[in-house]
Amino acid sequence: MSETKSTCCYCGVGCGLIVEHDAGQITGVRGDPDHPANFGRLCTKGATLHLTVAPDTRSQRAHTPELRTDRTAARQPTDWATALDHVADRFAAIIKAHGPDAVAFYGSGQWLTEDYYVFNKLAKGLIGTNNLDTNSRLCMSSAVAGYKLSLGADAPPCSYTDIDATDCLFIAGSNTAFAHPIVFRRIEAAREANPDMKLVVVDPRRTDTAEAADLHLPLLPGTDIALFNAMLHVMLWEGWLNRDYIAAHTEGFDALKRLVREYTPAMAAAVCGVPKRDIEQAAEWFATRPATLSMYCQGLNQYASGTHKNAALINLHLATGQIGRPGAGPFSLTGQPNAMGGREVGALANLMSGHRDMSDPAHRAEVARLWGVPEVPATPGKPAVELFEALKNGEIKAVWIAATNPAQSLPDQAMVHAALEAAELVVVQDTYRHTETAAYADVLLPASGWGEKEGTVTNSERRISRTHAAVPPLGEARHDWEIACDFARRLGPRIGKGDLAYQLFGFDSVEAVWREHRESTRGRDLDITGLSYAKLDADGPQQWPFPDGASTGRARLYEDGVFPTPSGKARFVATDYVVTAESPSARYPLHLITGRLRDQWHSMTRTGLVPRLYNHEPEPQLHMHAEDLARRDLADGDIVRVRSRQGTVVLKVIASDTVRQGQSFLPMHWGGNTMAGTLGINALTPSATDPTSKQPELKHAAIQVEKL
Ligand code: SF4
Repeated sequence: MSETKSTCCYCGVGCGLIVEHDAGQITGVRGDPDHPANFGRLCTKGATLHLTVAPDTRSQRAHTPELRTDRTAARQPTDWATALDHVADRFAAIIKAHGPDAVAFYGSGQWLTEDYYVFNKLAKGLIGTNNLDTNSRLCMSSAVAGYKLSLGADAPPCSYTDIDATDCLFIAGSNTAFAHPIVFRRIEAAREANPDMKLVVVDPRRTDTAEAADLHLPLLPGTDIALFNAMLHVMLWEGWLNRDYIAAHTEGFDALKRLVREYTPAMAAAVCGVPKRDIEQAAEWFATRPATLSMYCQGLNQYASGTHKNAALINLHLATGQIGRPGAGPFSLTGQPNAMGGREVGALANLMSGHRDMSDPAHRAEVARLWGVPEVPATPGKPAVELFEALKNGEIKAVWIAATNPAQSLPDQAMVHAALEAAELVVVQDTYRHTETAAYADVLLPASGWGEKEGTVTNSERRISRTHAAVPPLGEARHDWEIACDFARRLGPRIGKGDLAYQLFGFDSVEAVWREHRESTRGRDLDITGLSYAKLDADGPQQWPFPDGASTGRARLYEDGVFPTPSGKARFVATDYVVTAESPSARYPLHLITGRLRDQWHSMTRTGLVPRLYNHEPEPQLHMHAEDLARRDLADGDIVRVRSRQGTVVLKVIASDTVRQGQSFLPMHWGGNTMAGTLGINALTPSATDPTSKQPELKHAAIQVEKL
């Protein structure tokens, strides 16, 4: 048996793994005791990763390229050259007839940084379109926009070590116990070591995380800004602000001060549906404990007000000086294993490599120079929801989807499925072939998966880890970055850019891709020019920035109180509370909240293959308050039809004391059956998006429930 160091491919905690393998087969997995994200611990998902690639899952894997030229026929196995030439012909014809913005790429936080880098360069550098978005749009784009708006750069300023050093942990919109279990273990250990540490949890549901809190604020869905503004009101009234910090390191406080005058605790108590005294208690602990750390995730991000929710929470840190010190700061938890890597290479429709701004001509010129292309396009591409709407209305004609399952994970599923049907060409590149999206593929490209890939990932705390291949790809599967390079060299000559394609995509190794990415960060806030594959292998995972000449990365940002804004000061954002995109009504009287289960991951492409991961929750069930069930003459286990303004699903109902009256909860994981024409949970969620981040409101819908 051999052992290879790698990383977990599920959540953004970014745990290190040791993969056990024998004769080309992965046989086991255990936590890497040397990895600073987990020190050997794994949660149930990570500890069962080897079962997702066990021999009995092979029928679910994509082994060989498949192609169909007739939508009414089944795809047939083919060879790589035929598949990629076919896609290159179709892409070239569409680009010539309709321009580069008629094609699009939709990638994934499952990609390694090197995969992101090459696909980003393919779209923006060779083809000349910014139509490259990823499923990070669904999870992190409001956090990106919030950090940029308030602090001037997309850089989480904290580290996991801050959990050990904090005196008050303020968790908002995150069921950390389920979604980031190893971080939660660290929180438990920190509380044991420091019994005076306060844990405040802001969440409409009484989750396992909320259950553990000293103070749980079960606010009404989407009312976080009212709560944060009221906490600031209390801090002002009580004289708990850090006026020296505000004066020296921030701007815009007067406007915010005027705004929060209206947000009395009594007013916020009525809006949020929580006791006034609890708002005051939360404000006191946040402001007066020696160090306060906030952690937040989709409960803030996945709303049409997601950017401002992030900014309103960051306001509290700036007003109290709870930032840039051990145990203090606003810490966004990333959902996916490498959402951070995508942000670093600029692999979203509105971002550029190395945290550069697409709207800045000098930044675009820098990227063009780095890549050796005449220019990169200035017009932002379509973010996820708009990308699929454009596919539906014919503006985009061909889409290349990689390592993600939008036919289950995007909101307003009826629209997404109609878009995939309307597309002239759907290319799906994935490790598995049983996803809802793969059913729409005209061309299926088999990609190597976890345990088979080499490269780098960045976790929530800006820590870059190496991931190594333990076994070769299955069948004819190839690495994502290699597929992109091969395709680019075939497409180039067809669009009059043959020489350029060879020049841009001549990478002879994954490390060559990484070296080019590394160079693109030189002089930027995320500068990693002091790192190399060899250093990461020898010294272990490192945090950025890590510029040339540095001996270590930076655990904490903004310790000097200088922020990457034009004035060097952080910005207060005066923002009002706005209601959710959908409000309950007589017809749709219940709030629906969506969220994760402990043992499933995203659309269950992997975790759904492991029988033991169904023990925790075996099927999708609508969790409702007992009073709401009784009012509808419903009992545990009844089959109900759940309707929203977007769509309908049929499933079981269960009584739960984790939701308040008038609210309900559905796990986000289960999809429908594309072949049978049924849709999953996201048939119910609306496609309303945040105006800045374009992140959809996947967390909430208004629904009605009736017995079948
Ligand atoms: Fe994987 Fe996240 Fe679990 Fe760690 S906490 S083992 S990264 S799923």
